Order: sequence, then structure tokens, then C-alpha cells
Amino acid sequence: MVQFAQVIVDVPTLQTNRPYDYVIPAIWQEQLRAGMRVVVPFGKGQRQIQGFVVGITDTAPDYTGELKVITQVLDLQPVLNLELLALAKWLAQWTFAFQISCMQTMLPSVMKASYSKKVRLLGAPTPATTAIFHDQTELDFADLAPETIKQLLKLQQEQLVEVVYQVHDRAKVKTIKAIKPLLAAADYTTIAAQVPANAKRQHELLTYLAAHTTAQEPITMQQVTAETQLTLTHVQTGAAKGWLRLIELETYRDPYAELASAPRTQPLTLTKEQANAVHQITTAGQQQRDQVFLVEGVTGSGKTEIYLQSIQAALNSGRTALMLVPEIGLTPQMVARVRGRFGAHVAVLHSGLSNGERYDEWRRIERGEAQVVVGARSAIFAPLTNIGLIIMDEEHEGSYKQDEMPRYHARDVALWRAKYHHCPVVLGSATPSLESRARAQKGVYQLIRLKERANHQPLPEVTVVDMKNELKKTKEDNFSSLLMRELRKRVLHKEQSVLMLNRRGFSSFVMCRDCGFVLKCPNCDISLTLHMDTHSMKCHYCGHEEAIPQVCPNCQSRKIRYYGTGTQKVESELQGLLPEARILRMDVDTTRRKGAHAKILRQFGRHEADILLGTQMIAKGLDFPDVTLVGVLNADTALGLPDFRASERTFQLLTQVSGRAGRAEKKGEVIVQTYNPEHYAIRLARHHDYEGFYQREMTLRHQGGYPPYYYTILVTASHEEENEAAKKIFQLMNQVKPVLSPQAVLLGPTPRAIARVNKRYYYQMVIKYKHEPQLQKLLTQIMQENQARNGIQISIDREPLSFI
Ligand code: ADP
Ligand code: ZN
Ligand code: ZN
Repeated sequence: MVQFAQVIVDVPTLQTNRPYDYVIPAIWQEQLRAGMRVVVPFGKGQRQIQGFVVGITDTAPDYTGELKVITQVLDLQPVLNLELLALAKWLAQWTFAFQISCMQTMLPSVMKASYSKKVRLLGAPTPATTAIFHDQTELDFADLAPETIKQLLKLQQEQLVEVVYQVHDRAKVKTIKAIKPLLAAADYTTIAAQVPANAKRQHELLTYLAAHTTAQEPITMQQVTAETQLTLTHVQTGAAKGWLRLIELETYRDPYAELASAPRTQPLTLTKEQANAVHQITTAGQQQRDQVFLVEGVTGSGKTEIYLQSIQAALNSGRTALMLVPEIGLTPQMVARVRGRFGAHVAVLHSGLSNGERYDEWRRIERGEAQVVVGARSAIFAPLTNIGLIIMDEEHEGSYKQDEMPRYHARDVALWRAKYHHCPVVLGSATPSLESRARAQKGVYQLIRLKERANHQPLPEVTVVDMKNELKKTKEDNFSSLLMRELRKRVLHKEQSVLMLNRRGFSSFVMCRDCGFVLKCPNCDISLTLHMDTHSMKCHYCGHEEAIPQVCPNCQSRKIRYYGTGTQKVESELQGLLPEARILRMDVDTTRRKGAHAKILRQFGRHEADILLGTQMIAKGLDFPDVTLVGVLNADTALGLPDFRASERTFQLLTQVSGRAGRAEKKGEVIVQTYNPEHYAIRLARHHDYEGFYQREMTLRHQGGYPPYYYTILVTASHEEENEAAKKIFQLMNQVKPVLSPQAVLLGPTPRAIARVNKRYYYQMVIKYKHEPQLQKLLTQIMQENQARNGIQISIDREPLSFI
């Protein structure tokens, strides 16, 4: 009987969500399975392209032309299991993406075509393997004949061979230069006597080498240049003369490697609130209910311990567990806690890993060697089977949403997988997203509240400093006298402080430094965004535009300026004010290098600094017992953003960063500097009042017609020519409008905030709606019809995090 395969092909120019039918050659019948990749001829030129097999049938497809035949098989076993194939199909529909993009997203990047692939012999040779391998242990997949692949497919099922990807990891061979003296100290003195006196650098080198002859370790060039006037050229001369050896040191280290051997921790005795949470979660797990729990627990309430004990329960019943952490929350501390409890059963997936390491972790999961997965957003696609629990820590975090195709939110994927596996989901946060909290309100999610810290200490006291008054007293831009006084005290008493500079909204709006006035749109009650290209202020909702103000329209002050300061500038200002303080800076600049983030935190943990100064990345998940002061330099930058989530973001950030103080025995204190002390987000954060904030914000969202009262979809069209992009978005508007009911709202079209990116112009519209049965179908159709036609690109984003 002839078999047929449905294949999703990878054609970048003509993306399509429907599978194409192919004939499976007799030689691979019975062995080809869904989830394997193949090469097939496609299109007019019969170009050979890659695709995923998504189904196999015995009945001939309903197709009038001549069916083409699969050319090559690329895998010996499925790379995507049936669950992930079904997930890809759903995800493509849900996010208006292409199935092929969803499938590629699920796989580690080394499994894509550009890497070479080997078939490796497992265990002792048998007559069947010897017939193929002869005296070799590895074969290049690219060289294999169809006949051979047929044999190998069988051998794979008998677990006699495996496929591995060759990864030439640049990260792994990264080196730095170092030197090693080759002679004895006395020899250097002898040589020095023969070197002309005016060869100053040679003398300096000889002296330096003589002083380091007993060094155990090679001396890095960095150290040499720091301690002397010598450069690499001088050292190379020395090497040529045989005075020293110049060596390349491997610097690569897994930032989490030392944690693998961390001492195992024992479960803590739970507080009453924690025990209740664990009980509810594990009961749902035992009953195989796909219930969603929203754990709303104040900072320090011990959510991690709840996660760990719930994971333990899932493992005890023979199931696996998946724990998502936002990228910046995936601190070494968090990894250490999970590894400390479950040791080698844990696989960690995050963007800091090299491609090779990522692939290694993926394989450990796929083979069932790791039963617990901790990772950032894309770890939600980990090939775990038999999942018993999915956890999303800091569920409100924006990094759970991917902003390129597929534009998915990890929470949606988590809920889908939980349904598939009949297991509970735990969404944890001190400041849940309004969407999740509202769902808990309606009883869709089960709400579990933890009102107390695990150590029964009160939440830290928060003092709000009004910077409007402060600026009149001092010349300093960034530090109030109260904050300086408290910082000085901490340095004196050898306690630690954390300072946060909020970079969100940097320079994108103007604010009056005398009265805190922010320019708003007359139509929309949303702040205007500064556009340097056109030298104007624009509204991203209705398109209103006006000139950049020279004086404050409210108080006539001339001190109306772009708002924003760099961390580096703040660091030097602080160092000037507090010369004796040891400051560590953590921002995108100082954490670019692999492992740098972990290193800074380790240094801070070892008390090598008094003050940790950083951007938002310091707000999350840090647990340092000796931090008694947290300062927020500028609480309100985000409030000026033309974004309906601006208040929510500000409240979340302030609550999170405040939570870093007073986590152990010592009492904590928080100082928040702001130009808007009366703003409700700041007032309520000051009292750690999430519930109060939720009520207030929901009222405003209701009045403004924003999520969670409405669903939203952002449609963007882009083109190299501005008028083409604009024309397209108006055409799409005319297509969408007739389909919408009167209850739906269409915002725009408007140019996007940064209207031109990468030589392309972007125009957008936002659809707000409650129930539009026709919309999904229409948007899917728009997506497919318009792909890459005439240079136009369309993107459709369900529930965008912002409209800017
Ligand atoms: P959250 O994530 O809710 O902010 P954490 O999970 O970081 O809080 O816990 C805060 C601190 O309380 C941690 O140092 C943790 O070790 C400690 N802790 C948590 N639960 C308990 C407990 N039951 N008994 C003692 N200490 C606990
Ligand atoms: Zn407007
Ligand atoms: Zn003013």
C-alpha cells in the first residue's frame, strides 16, 4: 500500500499554513513518522526544500495533479512529538503566525539546516551496523544514500545509532592572552645587564618577569597592562627572545557550573499560608485537573518554596515539571535554589547559554534525563513528556511575550499544554497582571493570596521624596538629601544598598522639572511622544501632533526638558558625593559579556561593594540578606509613556524593587524619588497595596475601554516607501471595518512611534473588541494573502503589550 505524507514546507517567500501532500517512497514506508523532517521538491522550479512531516495516511489525497515524491529524510526519529506538532498548529492560528515559524521556534537553533549532522554508533558494533559503518563510528548525514537511511531508521529504533549535531561553539573556545615567565629570577638579572640602558620597556619587562617567576598561574595581559606600561608588542618581543611564553587562556565558563554541585537543600517547614497553597496545587495535580492558580503573594512571602514543594509532589507521582522565570529573573540565585533541591534532574534553558549548551540541555530533556526544566520564555516549548505541573514566576513580566513571529505569550502556551497534560498551572506574582487578576476575580483562575512574609517581618517602610521641592534645595539632579543621608549611614554601618535608575521611557517624553507637568494629547489623555526626526510631539493613538514646548504650559518655567539620565552619569555623580563608597553598576553595558550578570551579583553577595546601582534588571528576584536600603532614583519616568499600561508597570516595578529590602533579620527601608508623589501608582505602591491598585486601575481601564475589558489586536503594515505602508494600512482598515460589529473600536491608522526602522516605514491600527466571530478568519486571510507581496509586510499581534 502506498503511503502519503502531509508536509509543512519552509518557503520564506510564500509562507503557508497548510500542509502539502507527498508520496512516501517505498523504501521509507512504515518508517517515516510525523515530526520528522524531510526534503521535498516544491514550486515551479521543483526546488528542493525542507519541511516537517505533520501527518501520514494510507488513503490517496484528493488532488488532481501528479503527486510529488519525498526526496530525502533528514531525521531518524521525530524532532517534534505529537503534542508539539498539535501545539504548533494551534499556535499558528492563535498568533497569526506560520506553522513553520512555530515549529522552528520549538527547536534549538543548532538543529536548523546550517549545522552539520552526524550519525553515531551507540555501543558495540553488530553485523548490521558494521555493514554501514565499516570501521568508522560516525557518518556524515549529508553523504547518506536513501538505502542507507532506511537501514539507519531501523537501527535507530533498536537504539543502536543516534544523530548528533556538530556544534562549533565559538563561545567555548573564546580565549584571552596571558604570559608565563620561562626563566629564573637570576637569569632575568643577567639578561638585564646586557640590554642597553635606553631600552626602557625591555628593562621594565625583565623586572616584571623576575618578580613573577614563582607565579603559579599564568598572568593575564589585562593584569600586565594594569600594573605596567607594557603593551602586547613588548610582550611579544619578550616571547621571541625566549623570556616568556605567550599563551591563550580559555575563559569560557558556564556561569551556573559551580551551582551544579551546590549542596542539596531540604524542604523548609511551610508557613500556614504556604502550606495551604501547596495543598491546593498538589491536590489539583493528583486529581489531574488543569486548574490555573494565581498565587498573589507579597514580596518575600516564600513563593519559591511553594514552587519547589509542588514540583516535588509532581515528581513523586512520576510526572515532570516546567518552571518559567522571566529572563532577568533567571538569576543564579534562582537557579541555585532549584538545582539545590533537585540536583542533576534539572535542566536550565536561558539566553545566556551558547547554542551548543542549549542543545545539550534540550537533549537531556528529550531523553528524559531531566525531569525539571527551568527556563525563560521559550522553555515553554521544552520537549518534556508527562508534565505534572507548570509554573510561571512573575507572571506579569513583559518578557513572556515574544515580539517577533510567532508573537506568543508564554502564559497562553502554558495553559494549552496544561490542558493537554491534565495538570495544574501556577501563576505567581506579588503584582499580578490585571488580566490574570481579573480572571481570578471571575473564578476562571483560583486565587491564592499570601499576605505575610515567610520571616514574619513587616514589609519595608517606603518614604516618598518629592523631587520638585528637592531641586530647589540642591544642584544635584539625581539625589535627594534624604537619600544621600541614608546611603551614607549604610556605608558607615557596613550595610548594603540597592539603587535603581528607571530607564523605561528614557528621553521619549518631556517633563517640567518645576511642576512635574507632562504634555498630553488633547483628545486621548495620554502623553505625547517626542519625535526627534520631525521635531514634534505626537499622539500614538489619534495622530495628533504639536510643536515641542519651549516653556511649561502649566507654570511657564523654562525647565521643561527631555526626561532621562544614564546609569554611568549617575554612578560618577554618586561616587563624587560618596567617595568612600564601593559601587557596582549593573546595566546593559556592564552585563553584555556572558556571565557578567552572575559575576556582579556574586561580588555584591560577597560584600565587595556597598551599593549596587542598576536599571530595572536589579528589581527582580534578588535575595540579599544585608540589603537594608533600596532607593529608586526616578519612579515616574514610565508614567510619562503614552501607554495604557504605564501605571501598572510603575506600580509593579516599585513593588518589586521595594521587596529587595529587609529580607532577613535586619529591617528594610525604601526611598522613592518622584516628581509625581500624588500619583495613585506611587501612593499605593508606597503602602504595598496591590488590591487597592487593582481596584483603581480596573476602574480606569473600564472608563478608557482598555484590556482586560477589551481584547486587542495590533495590525502593522510596513514598506520601504512611506506612502505604500500608509496605503496598505488604510486598505486593511477598509477590509476590517465592515466585518466588525458596532461594539468594536478601531484606533488609527497612525504611524508607529518609531515610524521608520531599518529603512522601513511602519503604520498601524488597533482593534479593540469583545466578541467578533468573523475577525479571526478575516485576519488569518489577510495574513496569508499579503505576505511578501510587493515588498509589503504585515504583522498581526494579538494582545500587544503596548500600542507604541
Ligand atoms: P518571594 O519569591 O515570594 O518574594 P522568596 O521565595 O524569595 O519570596 O522567599 C523569601 C525568603 O524567605 C527566602 O530567603 C526564603 O528562603 C525564605 N523562606 C521562604 N519560605 C520559608 C519558610 N517556610 N521558612 C523559613 N524561611 C522561608
Ligand atoms: Zn490623541
Ligand atoms: Zn511647569
